[in-house]
Amino acid sequence: MIVRACSLSLIALSLIVSACILLPSALAAPMHDRAINAHPRFDEKGTASKSFTVEGDAVYGAFPDAHSEQAGRGVRFLSSADGAKGHLRSGSVRETVTNISATGGRWYRFRIRGLAQDGFHVQRDDLYLKVEFFRDGGTNSLDSIKKWIYPQVEKEREDFRDSQTNARLGAGTWQSYELVFRTPFPEVDTLELTAGFGHGSGKSKQAEFWINEFELVRIPDPDDYVARIKAKNDSKAKSESQRPEPAADSLVPLGGRWYYDPRGTDGEHAAHSRSAAPPTHFDFSNADRLYYRTDRFEAPFADNMQAWLRKGWLDLEGKLVTKDRLVPDNVTLEFTKTELIVRSHNLPNHPTAVFPDRWRALDGNPNYIQEQRQVWRIPLEPQVNPNHVAIDRHNENRALPGGPIGVATNGVIFFNPFDADSVEAIWRLDRCCGHPSPGFEYHYHKYPVCVKSPWTDDGTAHSPLIGFAFDGFPIYGPYESAGELAKDSTKNPLNTFNVHHDEVRGWHYHVTPGKFPHLIGGYWGIAQVRNRPPRPRRGPPGAMPLDPGRPDRDSMAR
Ligand SMILES: [Zn+2]
Ligand SMILES: [Zn+2]
Repeated sequence: MIVRACSLSLIALSLIVSACILLPSALAAPMHDRAINAHPRFDEKGTASKSFTVEGDAVYGAFPDAHSEQAGRGVRFLSSADGAKGHLRSGSVRETVTNISATGGRWYRFRIRGLAQDGFHVQRDDLYLKVEFFRDGGTNSLDSIKKWIYPQVEKEREDFRDSQTNARLGAGTWQSYELVFRTPFPEVDTLELTAGFGHGSGKSKQAEFWINEFELVRIPDPDDYVARIKAKNDSKAKSESQRPEPAADSLVPLGGRWYYDPRGTDGEHAAHSRSAAPPTHFDFSNADRLYYRTDRFEAPFADNMQAWLRKGWLDLEGKLVTKDRLVPDNVTLEFTKTELIVRSHNLPNHPTAVFPDRWRALDGNPNYIQEQRQVWRIPLEPQVNPNHVAIDRHNENRALPGGPIGVATNGVIFFNPFDADSVEAIWRLDRCCGHPSPGFEYHYHKYPVCVKSPWTDDGTAHSPLIGFAFDGFPIYGPYESAGELAKDSTKNPLNTFNVHHDEVRGWHYHVTPGKFPHLIGGYWGIAQVRNRPPRPRRGPPGAMPLDPGRPDRDSMAR
């Protein structure tokens, strides 16, 4: 039976729910009507090839030996291994879609319709869909997302196996493969859509993957997204009414740029608390009175200090968690005369992918997310290091250590951009841009642009603070001013450390979406030497320990 996934009626759609991530609200209208790219179906008159770039071991044309149905024309991925040279095949088809705008919604579905012949094979699951985001008329890359779809091919081979099928025709069926996403920044005006494969090592016969549809559709905001934004806005309105902008002259200095607001929200105790000494310890209950001075007074830890220890993660003792459990003290703070001490259980306060990644939704990362007991010391008065060295593109100088290099205001640690092979690690992350290391520590390699990021930033002003490097200098979000990303600033450009200086904030880092080094490009200041990467508590069998001299060795499966 040929399953025409996602291209027929609602009845057909309901049969293949397992093959597509379907959003119920998107089913109301026929899908093809709303495709916003130029040629969503390749077999129309053969004109499609003009708007596509086909590269490597991929060709555009008629499908050969298409006994199974009137397959027509499209793109063919040729995975057949090259016996003579022994190299693996790779190729792709790409289309650029312009005139994208945030007006009218930022959610899309990129879908291809493909048929994997029985002999089609790739190593490392390397059959994928990818979307790269651009602004400024497509000239400025902002970030990209990628999804490996080969596990779906294998699953469907298993699910649709039918011994009645004539073996000569092959058992391959047409399926939909899709990537649902939201543009990570409102300025995105161009999308580059790619379907591709690498590590092709197919058999000599029937080793092709065919694509006959390649479609981009704008979809309504998913219901769970709408509900979450509404809840967030409600709680924001509530907490902001409880947390009026403090009057600068009433604040008590704690050291560095930190201040405490003694008035809080309860007027009755105001007179009393004003005369009392400020607290030296902060947790979720008083983080809304702890302010960091930028061009305004921000409360960066407010609403970021509690997290859930989720089912399927490991607790402090390494036991598998069987029921979600709130960890109210996920992040706690202590001020000394010279340091802010951040104690963190390192649990992300946002959804993550499932780890270990047994189903290879990402890259087969074998590690768990485990609750940690971490202590990070952040200097209150950061000092510029006259001998600072920036990292190089291939990590040859090892200017930043492997393991933790900073901590976000939700207690999650930052790592440098590299994995074990000194290759950028950014592909290996979940949709909130984090993943666990072999030491089972969840961490970020870049700014989380996922829709469930703990930081809200609509790009209407200089971004808020999102964390600190271990030299004590603050790390801000991506924007320098309304609509202007810091990485693009010509008035006050970032240097190779991702640092610049202004009168109000002093020296500070910015994250640079879509641009190396993504977070920080080296310690601009003198790093607190006590913030050594901790020894891993547990590791999977055979995993290397996290060694301070070595970069992140996670995702060893890939
Ligand atoms: Zn700045
Ligand atoms: Zn990593």
